[in-house]
Amino acid sequence: MISPQAGLLAPYAADPARSQGRRHPEEQALYRNAFQRDRDRIIHAAAFRRLEYKTQVFVNHEGDLFRTRLTHTLEVCQIARTIARALNLNEDLTEAVTLAHDLGHTPFGHAGQDALNACMADCGGFEHNLQSLRVVDHLEQRYAQFDGLNLTFETREGILKHCGADAARELGALGRRFLERTHPGLEAQLANLADEVAYNSHDVDDGLRAGLLSIDELEGLQLPGRLFADVRSTYPTLSRRRLIYETVRRMIAAQVGDIVTTTQASLEAARPADIDAVRSRPDALVHFSDAMQQQHRELKHFLFHALYRHYRVHRMAEKAKRTITGLFDAFVDDPALMPPQHFQRSRSLEAMDNAAGRARAVADYIAGMTDRYAIDEYGRLFDPRRLT
Ligand code: MG
Repeated sequence: MISPQAGLLAPYAADPARSQGRRHPEEQALYRNAFQRDRDRIIHAAAFRRLEYKTQVFVNHEGDLFRTRLTHTLEVCQIARTIARALNLNEDLTEAVTLAHDLGHTPFGHAGQDALNACMADCGGFEHNLQSLRVVDHLEQRYAQFDGLNLTFETREGILKHCGADAARELGALGRRFLERTHPGLEAQLANLADEVAYNSHDVDDGLRAGLLSIDELEGLQLPGRLFADVRSTYPTLSRRRLIYETVRRMIAAQVGDIVTTTQASLEAARPADIDAVRSRPDALVHFSDAMQQQHRELKHFLFHALYRHYRVHRMAEKAKRTITGLFDAFVDDPALMPPQHFQRSRSLEAMDNAAGRARAVADYIAGMTDRYAIDEYGRLFDPRRLT
C-alpha cells in the first residue's frame, strides 16, 4: 500500500503550526510552512553548495563517480523521506534536517575533522556536528536582519545529533536533552538513522568501485551476503556492476523496511500523545529490530577496518592532516594571511575571547573550505613559485 501524502500527520509528528519558533521572530511566509522555509533556506546556503566538493570517503579528484558530501546528503534525504512518509511523520522537517546534517563538515572527510579537532584541542575542540549548527546559526551571511539562516528550533534540534555537556549548557533549550539524556522528535531520530543506512550502503558500492573491497569479503557478512546470494540465484548471469547495484539497492530497502516495521510497533506500544511526549522519553522510538541492528553493526565494523583503514584511504587521510594542520598553524600564527573578511573576523573574535577566539575564526575559515580550495590555499601559502 502506498502511504498517504505528507499532510496527514500523526499526532506525534512535528507540526509546523506548533513550532517552538526561530531565534529571531519573523512573519509567516505566504505559501510555505515553517519547515518548508527552513528546507529552502538550507538549499540556498553557500555551505550547501560547497558539499559538492567535499569528501565523503574518497577525495573529490579520485574519481567522478564516488559519493561526495552532497550526493551522500541527497541519499540520506531520500531514505529519510521514504520512512517519514510511511510513518506519517513530517516530511518537510525530515528533508530540512537531512539536507543540513553535514553542512559543518571540514574538507577531506573525517581525517579533516580529526586534524582540525587536534589543532583546536586547547581552544574548545572542533566537532562537525556542532559546526553544522554554527553554520546555520551564525556563519551564513545572507539576510539583512540576522546572521545565520534563523531556522526553527525543530530543524536545529535535528541538526544537533550529539553534544558534550559544556556545549549543551551554553545552548540552553536546544542542549537540554543532552544533559537530561532524553531524545529529540521523531524526524530528528529518523534523520540520524537514515544517515547510517545511507553511508553503510553507499560505502559498499564505492569501496567495490575503488577496488578496496571485494564481493568475496562482503559475501561473508550477514546482510550483503544474504542479498548477494538472492540476486545471484534469481539472475545467475548478471554482470558484476548490476549485481552490485541490485544488492546495494536491496540492502537499503531491507534496512528501510525494517526501520518502518519496527518503529511502527514501538509507536503503537508507546502511543506518545505528541512530540513533547516523544521528547521526554529516555528511549529512542525510531530504531532497527535487534536482528537488523546486529547485521548493521557487523557491516559497519567491517567497513571501518576494510575501507576506512585501507592503506590507500589512510595515505590520503595523512595528506589531509598535513594540509589542514599546515593551514591552521600558519593562519593562527599570522591571521593577516587569511582573506580580509576572515582576518577581520579573527580580530573581532580575538577581542572577545583572546587566543581561543582567533583559533575559532581560523577553524571556521578552514572548515568552510572545499577539498580543492584547501589544496589550492595550501599551495598558495607554501609553494614559493605559486602566485597568491
Ligand atoms: Mg552524513
